Amino acid sequence: MDLFEYQARDLFAKHGVPVLAGIVATTPQEAREAAEDMGSELFVVKAQVKTGGRGKAGGVKLARTAEEVEQAADEILGMDIKGHTVRRVMIAEGTDIAEEYYFSILLDRSERRYLAMCSVEGGVEIEQLAVERPDALARVPIDPDEGIDEAMARHIVDEAGFPEADADAVADVILKLWDVYVNEDATLVEVNPLVKTTDGTILALDGKVSLDDNAAFRHPHHAELEDRETENPLEAKAKEKGLNYVKLDGGQVGIIGNGAGLVMSTLDVVAYAGEQYGVGPANFLDIGGGASAEVMANGLDVILGDADVRSVFVNVFGGITACDEVAKGIVAALDILGDAATKPLVVRLDGNNVDEGRRILEEAAHPLVTIMETMDGAAAKAAEIAA
Ligand code: GDP
Ligand code: MN
Repeated sequence: MDLFEYQARDLFAKHGVPVLAGIVATTPQEAREAAEDMGSELFVVKAQVKTGGRGKAGGVKLARTAEEVEQAADEILGMDIKGHTVRRVMIAEGTDIAEEYYFSILLDRSERRYLAMCSVEGGVEIEQLAVERPDALARVPIDPDEGIDEAMARHIVDEAGFPEADADAVADVILKLWDVYVNEDATLVEVNPLVKTTDGTILALDGKVSLDDNAAFRHPHHAELEDRETENPLEAKAKEKGLNYVKLDGGQVGIIGNGAGLVMSTLDVVAYAGEQYGVGPANFLDIGGGASAEVMANGLDVILGDADVRSVFVNVFGGITACDEVAKGIVAALDILGDAATKPLVVRLDGNNVDEGRRILEEAAHPLVTIMETMDGAAAKAAEIAA
């Protein structure tokens, strides 16, 4: 789960990372009140969207008075930044920046360890810097068993080329950011810019944090950080029903299968079969082992709610759950959905009790259902119907 900047800021504060005051507002009026409450000589009004480059897009504005804050919030709220609509702004206390640095820790999957990156040349052009002058961006591998201790923090700071006068202060902030990374089970902690103010203080002025969903059970309070408003509504619905659903862009064939491996190979055969028509898979939906009527109905409900879907391929291999149970599930699901079931279904069943499963579907003879014997045949049929 990616966090909004204000949420990252809160986590930073919790772990002692130096940040400036910030208040979230959803209207220009609220923004003005936040500024009045904060009472500062300089404010920064910042779009809260889960994408970078807000500064360049005009989503970060400096303001001197509460009136200016209100006006800036008015301009930023509703703005579209790389496809993200701004619904919230953060009113942050502003500061006079002397230097902008960069620091991040991330999970380096291919190397099976963490990677710390640090530069004395931070700010909005960091991606460009990484490409054009990679030497200016220190990359320090971090052994997961060792983590970042004081000596390692100093090493990172030295690799990045910080002047001796700032080295201790920056290393101290790095230690605290490591604390965030490891104790919140993050997969990314990025601060750009990490700044030195004109009075010499080191501050995290921006924060990007991704939390590891697999560790959610260790952090009950992380659930509150979920953004239900801007989440894809179908993904939210699926999550609520305990289904593994991922929407894929550009496809027309809805896919339901049992087991992630089967669903992934189903995506492949549908992509292959759809090539000649220019259609492809519209989603990934794994209903898991127990394909009961209710689970099937929930799965179908989610997929039929996707306006892009023109046909649905239900691909089930009966294992522990036998095909006759799955077939009953499909029939009952269509019953439950009634008129809400509007799109043609291509069903391929195989495995345990397949004959009985097919018989049940044939007997029900639902007008929307086509039964196919093979996975390839079913994929071809589903693609043809979608086309
Ligand atoms: P991003 O563009 O989405 O990464 O947003 P940032 O939060 O990094 O802000 C972009 C830029 O705005 C920073 O690199 C700073 O130059 C500037 N900025 C942010 N906060 C302040 C502040 O308190 N004072 C000043 N002078 N500039 C700021
Ligand atoms: Mn930034």
